[in-house]
This record gives sequence, structure tokens and C-alpha cells, in this order.
Amino acid sequence: MFGSKRFKTQRITCKNNHYLKAHINLQKAIKNELFLLGTKGGPAIRPKGSMPSSSLLVLDNEKILIDAGLGVAKSLTEIGFHLSELSNIFITHLHSDHYLELGPLIHTAWTTGLTKKIKIYGPKGLIDYWQKFLLSMQYDIKNRIKNEGRIPLKRIVKIIPVKKKFLKVGKIKVKFLQVPHPPLKECYAYKFIGSKKIVFSGDTRYFEPLASFSKKSDVLVHEAILPKYIDKIVKKTGLSLKLKKHLESSHTKLQEVIKIAKLSNCKKLIINHLIPNDNTLKQRRVWQKNINNKINTKVIIGKDKLRIKLS
Ligand SMILES: [Zn+2]
Repeated sequence: MFGSKRFKTQRITCKNNHYLKAHINLQKAIKNELFLLGTKGGPAIRPKGSMPSSSLLVLDNEKILIDAGLGVAKSLTEIGFHLSELSNIFITHLHSDHYLELGPLIHTAWTTGLTKKIKIYGPKGLIDYWQKFLLSMQYDIKNRIKNEGRIPLKRIVKIIPVKKKFLKVGKIKVKFLQVPHPPLKECYAYKFIGSKKIVFSGDTRYFEPLASFSKKSDVLVHEAILPKYIDKIVKKTGLSLKLKKHLESSHTKLQEVIKIAKLSNCKKLIINHLIPNDNTLKQRRVWQKNINNKINTKVIIGKDKLRIKLS
């Protein structure tokens, strides 16, 4: 259950779509909703900008976190989510903008009162990450166990490397698709099948099998890059052409995302992990302009703390 008493929404109208913006204080248990918590691609954060990747999917009363980029714990509490309710986390791949706050999130949930097991699914490197996170915080963890009477933190976490073709979270069936996002090898798209079918692309370059993976899905959440901004981003970060090459070869151009959405015949496309995403109106208009009239499917351009009803 989400805990707070009041829930306010603000209706925002965009040229092609309507959506509800999540506000602090959720009123009641909700069914089939998606909260985009952090929507920028890449790990850097800047004043007034967007935050790295994380999303909360509420499907058939299961609450599933997808990725745990920087800011995830604060964003979850801001939408009224109690951290002690964390139960299932899916990590798409081991780029820091997708899991930098995973350890701190679980630690904070533990200090908030979490005692039941959290299952974390994703690349096998998560096992090493978690063990080393525990090691890095051992002074604090031991102290809290000894002097506050908390249960051992390591007991409440189970890391499950993605191996099987599918698994179940409650009544929801989850399928995986390995996607190309060089130089990383273990990168996954996830499909959650319950009363709605929701697909997250994860980070990937253009990959046509994603179209059949998300065939007739209710929602396809796909990463995207606007190619004309690549040079500007490289200049802003002060890095070399290596970054330019990575951006060009490891992400999906917006027009290619639209192609995937058309091929998949999904009912709704959500553009997520936006590169760039400086959270300015001017930049959002550029995204919108590049979508207008190119697809009949309903398209939502991701924004931090956006609440999207799925039913
Ligand atoms: Zn990545």
C-alpha cells in the first residue's frame, strides 16, 4: 500500500497526449500505473536538469522497480512510496546511471524498516557489486545491527542473475531479451505480462527483435537519442570522440524508435532515457517536433515524476 492520505494530480496537455504528473502524497493503492522517476540518459546531473534512470511499475498490485539510478530513493518517497515496501527490482545493465543508487536504496529501505526479502534481477555482476557495497558499509552496518537491533542487511537481499527464459513476480510473468549496447554484454529488455503487457527496452542500439518482443504490447518504454545533439553533449562533458562514438553506436535514434513502435504495433510508446534531457521546454519541443505526424500511436515524452495510468 502507498501510505499517504492525499493524492493530487495535475493534468498536463501536450500536443499529442495527456498525462498526469505525479505529486507528493498518494492516496490509495493503485492499479496499473507507471511512474517515471528519472528519465535522462547518462550519469551526469546538472542544476534544474533531469535525473538518471529509474521507473516504478505498478501492475496488478505488484510494485516493481526498474533500474536504480541516482535519486531513486528520494523520488520514490516523493511519490508517496514507502521504501519498506520494496520487493522486486530489475536492473537492465551495469552502467552507473542505472544502478549507482541500488546499494544506498536498499540500505535506506533497511533503516526505514524493511525486513522482508528483496529480489534483485539483472546481470550477474550485481552479485559482486552487492558484496562490495556491503563491505564498503560494513562499519555502519555492524554498528546498526549491534546497537539498534537490526537484522543483518545481507539476509534481506537475493540477487538473481538473469538466466531463465522467464520468471514470475506474483501473478506477473516476466520475459527477458538480451539487447546490444556495446561495449557491455549483459543488457536486458524486460517484458512484464499481467493484465497489461509492458515492455522496457533498456539501453540498446537499434535492435529490430525488440519489435517482435513488444508485439501488441500495451506500453513500450524505449530509450532514445536525438542525433543532432551528440556534438553538443560531447562538448559539454569535455570528453573526447570516444564518447561520440559510444553515443552513436550504443543508442537508438528517435526515428528508429518510431520504426520499432510501428513494427510492434504497441498501443502506447513512452520515450525514456532521453539523450539529451536537460528538462527545458525548448528541448522538449524539439523532441515533440521530431515525433509529430510520424506515428499514429500515442506517444509520451518521458519526464521525471511523470505518472502514467495504464488502464
Ligand atoms: Zn547504458
